[in-house]
Amino acid sequence: MKPYAEVIGDPIAHSKSPLIHGFWLDALGIDGDYRRAHVKPEALEAYIADRKADPYWRGCNVTIPHKVAVMDVVDDPGDIRRTIGAMNTVVRQPDGALIGTNTDAAGFYAPLAELDLDGAAVAVVGAGGAARAVLFALARAGVAHVTILNRSPLKAMGLLATFGLKGEVVGLDAALPPVSLLVNSSSLGMTGQPPLDLDLSPLPEDAIVYDLVYAPLRTGLLKAAEARGLDTVDGLDMLVGQAALAFELFFGRSPPEGRDDELRSLLTT
Ligand code: NAP
Repeated sequence: MKPYAEVIGDPIAHSKSPLIHGFWLDALGIDGDYRRAHVKPEALEAYIADRKADPYWRGCNVTIPHKVAVMDVVDDPGDIRRTIGAMNTVVRQPDGALIGTNTDAAGFYAPLAELDLDGAAVAVVGAGGAARAVLFALARAGVAHVTILNRSPLKAMGLLATFGLKGEVVGLDAALPPVSLLVNSSSLGMTGQPPLDLDLSPLPEDAIVYDLVYAPLRTGLLKAAEARGLDTVDGLDMLVGQAALAFELFFGRSPPEGRDDELRSLLTT
């Protein structure tokens, strides 16, 4: 037997996490494994109880639809429930205790770390689980004003209040304000979902457009931003960033340096 971690969700076949963690395990020569586990909502509690008793299991990444429900069955020393309100990583301690955390917020923020967002006006599309991590990170970065564009306005208003952010909520058809950062954290633009049709002309020339969607990687939004000459960040940066933090928690090592281009090409072929 060797140490292993997993990604759990329903569905789970689409997850790129096994490819990412498998690449790093190979590159570092770690004798470990990272697997997919298809866990339906009604089976989450039993899955967690089963793995808790397995000393080889280092933990799991958690994806749709378990990010909220998993908070009921693990410890929360980082106060994730009250802050981000969703967990994407569970780590088993040597004594069998299970700790839940969230690496999405740090993974989202990593490509923006060089920017000074203190006092900035930003716009965020979406108010689901990913938006919570985005808004948490933006609040900590000190943004001054957030415009949330969302289909369900009440949900978005709740998020502004939760994260203590000043701002407004508008519909998806509203004109964009002239913000320095636009983030799409909705499912719009994802393969199989409706497109995200935004007029980017109100954005200033130095604005950055960040799309969390990674399937496809070059979304319609990013293509439109590139056509306007704006800087862009795609969803793979966050995907790899959140995975790197989880990898360290599971296997005790940082991912190998200087292999990001190789990993990106593996993820895009
Ligand atoms: P979620 O909790 O289901 O939220 C989905 C959001 O999209 C909600 O705001 C929802 O609006 C909106 N939406 C969905 N379908 C819509 C439609 N037909 N018309 C208008 N709005 C619609 O999902 P999530 O976990 O936040 O994920 C959102 C996206 O982020 C996905 O594409 C996911 O792959 C991506 N993501 C990427 C990373 C990464 O590492 N790059 C990490 C996490 C998530 P309502 O609020 O009105 O329902």
